[in-house]
Order: sequence, then structure tokens, then C-alpha cells
Amino acid sequence: MTSTWVEPENTPLALLLLGQGSDPAAERGVECPGELPPPSAPDLVARAAAAKAALGDRVFVLGHHYQRDEVIQFADVTGDSFKLAREAAARPGAEYIVFCGVHFMAESADILTSDAQRVILPDLAAGCSMADMAALSQVEAAWEVLADAGVAGSTVPVTYMNSSADIKGFVGRHGGVVCTSSNARRALDWAFDRGQRVLFLPDQHLGRNTAVLEMGLDADDCVLYDPHKPGGGLTEKQLREAKMILWRGHCSVHGRFTLDSVEEVRRRVPGVTVLVHPECRYEVVTAADQVGSTEYIIKAIEAAPAGSAWAIGTELNLVRRLAKAHPDKEIMFLDRSVCYCSTMNRIDLPHLVWALEELVAGRVVNQITVDPDTARHARAALDQMLALPGAERPVSTARNDWV
Ligand code: SF4
Repeated sequence: MTSTWVEPENTPLALLLLGQGSDPAAERGVECPGELPPPSAPDLVARAAAAKAALGDRVFVLGHHYQRDEVIQFADVTGDSFKLAREAAARPGAEYIVFCGVHFMAESADILTSDAQRVILPDLAAGCSMADMAALSQVEAAWEVLADAGVAGSTVPVTYMNSSADIKGFVGRHGGVVCTSSNARRALDWAFDRGQRVLFLPDQHLGRNTAVLEMGLDADDCVLYDPHKPGGGLTEKQLREAKMILWRGHCSVHGRFTLDSVEEVRRRVPGVTVLVHPECRYEVVTAADQVGSTEYIIKAIEAAPAGSAWAIGTELNLVRRLAKAHPDKEIMFLDRSVCYCSTMNRIDLPHLVWALEELVAGRVVNQITVDPDTARHARAALDQMLALPGAERPVSTARNDWV
């Protein structure tokens, strides 16, 4: 059987010019400095290979699953954000960690690596819209709202890995924990052993999906805290009675999948298995056949029988790579329109070449550093995650096990 991969149509939404310029709404939103080689330069692949070879073991290149193929080909290891941060920490001999991902991931790598190692993000404008949705000042204000309602002392903050170091630091300072999409259930179990409710940051969908579908909480146990409204848009009674206070944040990629996309693909492809990431909306996750982290999605497709059909709801670069790697399976994108992560796509070959060649010349560019106090508290919240009962597992569960 040959692959039936069909390139999705272009989105009607304007995407940012990839790898160039700035986005004032992005996590860092800065212009990348330096003289970048033009994207049309014919020797970019050879230049990246030469620079990497010249650096040898001094450099370790990490590639997130959502990165472009042109970048992934130079990654020493690929993975999700947590796996990559651990891989960086496991390479104390590498002087430079070049992180092909987004800003919060590079921050986590800096927190988990030694002071002697330097973490480099090839384009400083590669932020994350979800991480942007929870600024430290907003979260501190929310904590005061909880204190005024008399519930801060009985609330445990839990933040998704996809948040800034500032937010991880806040959570560590207040006795909370970081979680990934693979261990959110265990992090919430841990938190509920210590408090009556959880403030879950910044992804409302992961929080709701885990609380309701995995843990069996009632949808009414969850309230949505809107940082742009006074008091989060909630009454003190709502805050007191809630078990899950969900921050009003979401992933701009996974949040785009709809129930219509699931129904449409089921009509179009009889027998298709719908597999989505838990950052998708509640109604999408409940309509899907399976739900799991990026690592789970990869393993599920690897284990799938030849001839099976899969509609996958996650970032397009990964889905396209899976389709290419498994031509004996019918792998399609859940939505018919383009769903790249525009900030992930900012890391392109010209930026990677530039960052590597600068290192060869002895110049460290775009270094990501987290201040020591923030790093200490963020590390406490990350270490608490590592200490959760049960080994870190890359997979979530099939939906039928959730409900
Ligand atoms: S895919 Fe979503 S959560 Fe991941 S970096 Fe992009 S916007 Fe952030």
C-alpha cells in the first residue's frame, strides 16, 4: 500500500513570516540579531554539517518533534520538551546545547544543565503562545485573588511544562509541581493529597481533560480563571467550591482542532482511528479514539498494523514526518487546513547555520539564561515532578481507559 498523504490546504489565517521579524505578542517577541545567511543559499546543509563537525562533542543539538525537517536532520536527539531537557542534562560534557524548539524549553534545559553549559536558541523570537498566556504578574495577581477568597492556603499550583521559567519558579515557591502531558494525572493526584484544589497553569484543556476524563471529576468542579477579568471573572464562592481552577490558556495549534474535524474525517475515511494530543479541546478528546502525548503518538503509529488509517491531531511537521516514515499506513492530518506551530517554525536552517557558525568563531549567540533565584524554585517544582510515584512514561492512555 502506498501512502495517501495529502498536503493540507493553506490556512486562511496569515502566518508570521517564518524565521524573520518579531511578533509583539510572542513569548519573547524580539528580532533575532546577526547576519543570517539567505534562505536561498545553496550551501546551507553543507555549512551546518561543517560547523557541527568542527564543534564535535562540544555541541549537542536538540530537536523538538515539531521542528522542520531541515532542522531535525541535524538534531543529535529528538523528543518532546521534557525528554529534551533531560537529554541535555545527561550530556554534561557538551559545552553548548543548541535547542531547536521554543523559549520555555531552552529555559528548562538551562535550569537542568550545569552552570558550565550554555543553552542556545537559534532564534530568540521562537516563543510559545501558550506560555505567553500566563505572565508572572498575572499569576501573582491571581494568587492574591485566591488569598482574598481565603483559599490560597488550600490550593496547590500545578504548571504544565509549557510555561515560562518565571511560572515554574512561582509554582516551586508555592509548594507545587510541574507536569507533562504524560504525567498530569499523577501530578494532580499528588496535588490533591496536599490541598483541596489545584490552580492549573497555563493550559485549560490539559487540566480539564485530565481532571474530568482521567480522574472522574465533574465538569462543574472546574472553573475557568480569566486573567483579563477582575477577580478572574469568578466569585469567591466559585473559587471556594472549585476543585480545579483552570487558567484561561491554550495551545494555538491544538486548540484549532474541532469536533467537526473529527466527524468529517470519520465520514470520509471509514475505520479511521482518531488520535489526538491532550492539549486539544475537551469535545475533541472525547470524540477521539485515543489521546496521548507526542511520544505516545509516535509509538502508537510505529506499533500500528500496515494498512491501518490514522487521523492525527497534533502539529503538522510531526504528522507529515510520520506519514513519510510509514508509507504502509494511511496517515492524515486531522484538520484540512495548515496547522504548523508558527513559532516552532521560526527555527529554520539559516538560523541554525548562523548559531553554529558563530560558535565555531568563538561567539556565543542567543544564550538563554534563567536567573539563579527563579531557577532554584523552578528546579524544585521540576524535581518534585521527577519524584512523583511511578516512572516517567512517555505514553498516555487510550481514551477508553480515561472515561
Ligand atoms: S505547539 Fe502549542 S504549546 Fe507547543 S510551542 Fe507551539 S503554541 Fe506552544
